[in-house]
Formats: sequence, structure tokens, C-alpha cells
Amino acid sequence: MPAPEAEESGTPVETVKGIGPARARLLERLGIRSAEDALLCLPRRYEDRRCRLSVKELEDGAPAAVRGEVVSSRTAFLSGSRRKVFEAVISDSTGTVRARWFRFRGLPGSPLFRPGSRVALYGTVCRAGKECHMLHPEVEGTDGETETANFGRIVPVYPAVEGLSQRVMRKMMEGLVSAALTGEGDFLPPPLRRRLKLPGRVKSLAMLHLPSGGVTAADLSSWKTPWHRRLVFDELLVLQLGLIRRLAMERLLPKSFRIRRREGKVAELKRILPFSLTSAQEKVWGEIADDMVSPRPMQRLLQGDVGSGKTLVAAMAFLLAFENGCQSALMAPTEILAEQHYRTLSGLLSRLGLRTALITGSRGAGGREETARGLLNGEVGLAVGTHALIQSRVRFRKLGLAVIDEQHRFGVRQRITLREKGGRPDVLVMTATPIPRSLALTAFGDFDCSVIDELPPGRRPVETFLCTAGDRTRVYDEIRADLAGGKRAIVVLPLIDESSRADLGAATVMHGHLAGKVFPEWPVALLHGRMSSGEREEVMAGFRSGETSVLVTTTVVEVGMDVPEATVIVIEHAERFGLAQLHQLRGRVGRGSDPSRCYLMTVPDVAGEARRRLETMASTSDGFRIAEEDLRIRGPGEFFGTRQAGLPRLKVADLLRDQEILLRARLEAERILAGDTNLDQVRHRGLRRAVNASWKGKYCLAAAG
Ligand code: ADP
Ligand code: MG
Repeated sequence: MPAPEAEESGTPVETVKGIGPARARLLERLGIRSAEDALLCLPRRYEDRRCRLSVKELEDGAPAAVRGEVVSSRTAFLSGSRRKVFEAVISDSTGTVRARWFRFRGLPGSPLFRPGSRVALYGTVCRAGKECHMLHPEVEGTDGETETANFGRIVPVYPAVEGLSQRVMRKMMEGLVSAALTGEGDFLPPPLRRRLKLPGRVKSLAMLHLPSGGVTAADLSSWKTPWHRRLVFDELLVLQLGLIRRLAMERLLPKSFRIRRREGKVAELKRILPFSLTSAQEKVWGEIADDMVSPRPMQRLLQGDVGSGKTLVAAMAFLLAFENGCQSALMAPTEILAEQHYRTLSGLLSRLGLRTALITGSRGAGGREETARGLLNGEVGLAVGTHALIQSRVRFRKLGLAVIDEQHRFGVRQRITLREKGGRPDVLVMTATPIPRSLALTAFGDFDCSVIDELPPGRRPVETFLCTAGDRTRVYDEIRADLAGGKRAIVVLPLIDESSRADLGAATVMHGHLAGKVFPEWPVALLHGRMSSGEREEVMAGFRSGETSVLVTTTVVEVGMDVPEATVIVIEHAERFGLAQLHQLRGRVGRGSDPSRCYLMTVPDVAGEARRRLETMASTSDGFRIAEEDLRIRGPGEFFGTRQAGLPRLKVADLLRDQEILLRARLEAERILAGDTNLDQVRHRGLRRAVNASWKGKYCLAAAG
């Protein structure tokens, strides 16, 4: 696949007129290395500096550009103050503006302000009585009518970098656009362009950097023009083409083993379960089983809200692999979660003849050796573990299936290492925090997707309350009533820094307070991440059995804890948690059929984003809505570590804002590749070059698998 064009890296930006090595270094801070990068650094907003108003017409409070003649200028003390100000009086035939600068190095004495010289100003107008002022306006000399890059037109405003003025940016873009106008045309095949009614690529770049014609600054600033759409579409199309090809490449080689459809063990499992599968679980299991029996390696993302029963579906996959003589691995992000999975699965699967082993960093060496032997000789059919699983000394006899839980904490690299342990095993990634479709198509664009969109029957949404210190007495009274009814409660304290003594101290103090003063008649236990796995296991066992009624814990319980009798959760300092984390934490209750409650304890007067997060939590239990909101608040870059996912950096598209265009791009990419897998056709040459340039070096990572 990688064609020779893949080596192309564009025209280095320092070869552009007016840009030397020093400015090139500054541009690099904006991610600009080549002329092509620079053209895709689009203005963040636009200013209308067309100088259409006379001084008399300038409106108070509005930004405006105006032309006039310098009458006088002087440096003076501001009345009643020791601050100096430079003031220039500028007038046209209709009136006078006083332009003022407090930072004015270089202005006094400049020929610009010689009486009689003509200047243009841009700034916010301030009218007070008869006076008209502008504070810190931009200023430029004009000889009447000529237009420059900075005045007399709609002027782009670029992302700021210290040391690089807007003037330099504008000048550079002007040069680049005129060079591009003479360059080669468009990489979209003309029929596609016509069908989607997209303007030309070069024309779009020109319009966005040097707007002309009837367009307004407001339209341009909205990022909704056809020219924006064109560039966003291009970027997302190239992204999707690359993703789909990457998937095809990963599937090029068949698995080194064969899985045949058998219903024996899975049917047996269904018989011993005290409940029946939801129809969503059945549907998803069908999709996974189809992948497993196919000769091509499975690469599937399984999404399902907390408590939707993903682990059970994974168990069925382990059994199918087992029946076909293959081993499986289940990788979890934390020890607690791995231990939890191990406990659930080994109990269940041992009844069906499948032996499970736990592999974590903190297991004793003796057990580890025995496990290693079991994995190598095939006696162990399922290894459950943390990152320790991907260490090189863990060897399988025949790894056929790798399941990764809570993918967002793993990078592509780990995924690949795990895959290398087998003969191209099937890979299933499970995530409990639903991913909005736009992100799923990107971060997981080279995965097939299954969704469990239904909770087991009888589950009720967890009632959620925002509380402050004043509500504590009432909250504790309500919890006592639950405890008296045989229910259990969880109290979570934030742990900002895994190693901080202060945070741990807070948990310890809270534990003492609750045990001694608040719930003296109930057993209260403390759980935190710095306990040994043996200690943790003991505490968890006590809480599961009901020996402990109240569990005080740091965020180690975030994922995985599954105790149906826990019906109340108190989250202390809820304002410090992110949305996805709050959703996970709340998911620790409401796992049985009893109604559950969640108290979000916060400091009074929480504002801003934290407030938005808390209100979202109180108003919905829909994981997809929460994930969308999380994306909106945090921005796509931070979301689920998409940065790690080995994708080209997006320069113009925004996965949230441009979801609609993304879906269109995905569709068109699928269509194009369906007819021309390698983009070999002449009309796809330009596209192929664009894909190779943008995905340069990113296939190697994937190809390693
Ligand atoms: P997830 O991993 O999606 O958060 P789990 O697989 O841990 O969910 O399941 C949550 C709880 O629901 C477990 O106690 C599990 O036994 C139970 N469960 C799973 N599937 C069903 C079902 N179809 N009906 C009733 N309970 C179920
Ligand atoms: Mg789970």
C-alpha cells in the first residue's frame, strides 16, 4: 500500500516569502510546518474593516473602521493621574475622533501622526457627549483609497502566537493564496463535488483568507460558509479514507486458527444463569459470534451503558473460543476492576470447565509462575489482568481472543502488543461510557460497532440530588433508613493525586467520622488504592456479603464494583469529578431492581462548567446524552484519549460541530473505496496523495498488528 507519494511532506514554511527560520519556529507552535499546513490554519474570526462610515456615523460601543486626517497628536498625563497617554486627533469632513493609547512605544514621532497625513483606524467606538474616542485602535497609513491586507476589507484574525503579529500572518497567507491559485486544482473528483454542491478547494482557501464579494464578517466568523464546509469535508474524507483502509489492511491476513460455531457451552451458560439475556445482549452476541467464526480477525467495539451486561456477553465469547481450543485474555484498566472481573468470571466459567487466572502487578511471584505455566500449556483458558497482561513474559499457548475493557485508558500501542501475543486474535473492545457517534467513527473508525442499548429489566434510573453541607443531616437520616432496611451505602471521596497523603487523609478522617458519629450502629469500612490487593479483596468481600454496610472509598471503585444491594451513593466534592467519572460512579448503584439514590455533595455556589456537569447528572441518566455533554464541555481532543489513537491531527474540522459533515464524509469514503480499494483510479490520484500525506507514518503503527 504505501505509495511513493507517502514520503511527501510539503513545502517547508521557511521557504515562504517573508518567513525565515525564526518565524518558522513561531509558526510551529500553531502546528504549522509546511505551506500546506499554513493554508489550513484558518482565521478564528473576521473583522469588517471596510471603512464604510464617516466619523459622524460611528456608533457607540460598536467596532468600526474609519478613515481620516491627522489633525494633531501629543503625549500627556491623563487628567488626575500619573499615567501617560498618547493621543491623536483625527477628523474627516463630518467630525473628530480621539484615538488613545496607553502602551504607545514607537507611536509618538512616527510619520504616521504628522499633521495632515491620512490614516485608517479600527477599534471600538466610545461616545461620551460630543466626544468620540477609540481606545487602542489599530492604525495604518493610507494614501486615500488603496486597500491593504489590514484595512479596507473584511480582515481575518488568526490564532495568536506571541511574537507573530496578525500583519505578518496576513501577509504570509496572502502570498500563499496567490501561489495556490496558480497551483494544481482540486483533489475531489468533479462528479462528487457537483453532487455535494461543494465549492472548489483553492477558491475556498482564497475566500477564507482573503474574503471578497458580498460575504459578511459575521457569516465568516460563524464557520458555516460553503467554503468552510468544503475544507472540513476534505479533511474528514481523508481521515475516513485512511481509517477504512487501515481496517482493510489489518484484516488482510486471516487468523492463524479457525473458530467454528458451536452452541454447547454458551447454551449451557444460558441455562445456569438466573435470568435470561436481554434482546440487546442476544443481538450483540450474534454479531460477535459471526465475527469470531469469520476467517478475518474481529475488530469490534462493544458499547453499552454501565450495568447493561457487557461482561456477560464477553463470557459467552470466552466460552466459544474455549470450545474451539483457543485461550482468551481480558484486560482491565485497574487492579480492582481486574479482580472484580476475575471473581465474577472464574466463578461462572469454572462451572463450565473453563479455568481462569488473574494476572496483575501485585500478585505474588509463586502464583505468577504457576499461572505462567498454565497459560503456556493451555490449562488456563482465560487470563484476566491489567497492563501486566501485555508484559512480554506473559505467553499464551494459543491466544484466540483479546477483550479490552474500558478502552479509553489504553492506547493503540497496547492493543497491538496484546494482539501480537497470538496469531492475529479477535479483538473486542468494551466501553461503558458511550461514545458519541462522531467520535466512535473517528477514534474507532477502524472498528465495527455493537451497542447494547437496553438495560436488564427492572432497572430504574438512579434518583440524583445536588446537596450542600446544609443537607447533610437529612441525607444521613435517609441513608440510615436504607441501612435499616438491609441496604448498603457507598461514600466516595475524590482522590486527585494517587500518591497524595492529604487526599488519603481526607478519606481516613471521613471514615472515622462516619463510623464513630454518623452510623455508629452500622459497620463502616474503608477502601483505597494504596491497600494491598489482599486487603482490598477482604474489604470488598465484606461489603458484598453484607458484613459491611457502609463503604467509604476513594475513586478506586470507579469502574467495576457490582453489588446489587448497594442502593445509595454519596459523592463528596462532586464538583471535582468529570462527567464520565460521575456517570461511572453513579453506576455503582442501581444494579439491582430496588430504587437507588445518588447524592452529589458540593460546595455552595458552584459555577461554570462544574455547575453544568452537576446539572447534567441530576437531569439525565442517559449515558449517551452525558457523553455528548462531556464532549461539549471538554472538547474532542481530551475525550477518551483520541490523541493517542494514532490519528492525523484535525486542523479545520471539529468533531462536535461538524458531526453532520463527518457522517457524509464516512459515507462517501465507503462509496469511493467500494469501487476502488486502493485509490488506483486516475480520478482518485489526488485523493490518494492527500491520504498518504495526512496518514504518513500512521499506518506503520497499525501494520505492526
Ligand atoms: P457492564 O459490564 O455492562 O457494566 P455487567 O455485565 O457487569 O454490566 O452486568 C451488570 C449486572 O447485571 C451484573 O450483576 C450482571 O449479572 C447483571 N446482568 C447482566 N445481564 C443481565 C440480564 N440479562 N438480566 C438481568 N441481570 C443481568
Ligand atoms: Mg463492566
